[in-house]
Amino acid sequence: MKKIGVLTSGGDSSGMNACIRAVARTAKFYKIQTLGFLRGYEGLINDDCIQLTQESVSGIIHRGGTFLKTARSERFKTQEGLLKANETIIKNNLDGLVVIGGDGSFKGAIEFSKISNLKIVGCPGTIDNDLVGTDFTIGYDTAINTVVEAIDKIRDTAESHNRVFVVEVMGRDAGIIALRSAIASGAEAVLVPEIKHDTKDLILKIKNWRDTKSSKIIIVAEGDESGGAYNVAKVIKETLPNLDLRVTILGHIQRGGNPSCMDRVNASLSGFHAVKALMEGRSNEMIGFINKQVCYTPFENAVKHNQTLNPDLELLIEILSA
Ligand code: ATP
Repeated sequence: MKKIGVLTSGGDSSGMNACIRAVARTAKFYKIQTLGFLRGYEGLINDDCIQLTQESVSGIIHRGGTFLKTARSERFKTQEGLLKANETIIKNNLDGLVVIGGDGSFKGAIEFSKISNLKIVGCPGTIDNDLVGTDFTIGYDTAINTVVEAIDKIRDTAESHNRVFVVEVMGRDAGIIALRSAIASGAEAVLVPEIKHDTKDLILKIKNWRDTKSSKIIIVAEGDESGGAYNVAKVIKETLPNLDLRVTILGHIQRGGNPSCMDRVNASLSGFHAVKALMEGRSNEMIGFINKQVCYTPFENAVKHNQTLNPDLELLIEILSA
């Protein structure tokens, strides 16, 4: 292994820079050159890359986003795009590639391996923490801490005005960010896609809230069957028109920000193991950590899981919010 490439693909997540840095510095340690491709698979198609040296990855470990930029490349989904990307690999004499992204990016890698012999390994970069084959994905810990910090701030204003807030958090398919942030921020109710619910129950709950509760926060995962925070607020208002109710959509602030310590360390470990895996001849596998042990999951299995939520957490929110 003499020369490898690294790219970030799909949605950005905090900790991607730490992972890129670890890839470049681990490669250098083993006397391997690294090229950083810009804007995900677009960089491969356009042969748009920069040499990554010890110095060029300085001062990025603490920064959110990805300094290599990321993109969703439609061209990479075409045969023409894949073939152009392979020309770049051949032209640059690459022996391996590290793809930092989510399951969509790994699907792209599977398609690429059908027309190329390049060895590819993946690092899980997505804030949803919903991939089979790992307990941890780069950006999840930072995102959930950002959510908790934001809700703490909302609670201050909610308490001051005795208001009810409906706060929408990320989670198109999974309610794990909503449920964990609800517990950590002391929210009064949570709506997640995994748990069927009737808005009538929520309204009953609001009616029964103790008068002594000075603030009331309802957290809604964006993918919940209710259709999001605005819809929940509308239904509540229809029954309880006098309620002082506000909606906050946390949106993209959940993606950015300086990565947490956990994200920095795990992303660094992930990048380190990605280079080691390429050196061992591994390919088409995602680096993951289960019970703190590194493990390798074939890309075709590294898909979004449909895990049910931990029932203890569901009961806990009921107990704590009473
Ligand atoms: P996130 O979890 O943040 O959404 P992701 O990696 O799942 O990240 P996607 O947009 O699903 O994000 O995929 C990223 C990129 O991977 C796509 O824009 C495309 O370039 C490539 N890709 C995805 N599926 C395929 C495919 N079937 N064939 C070729 N390339 C693909």
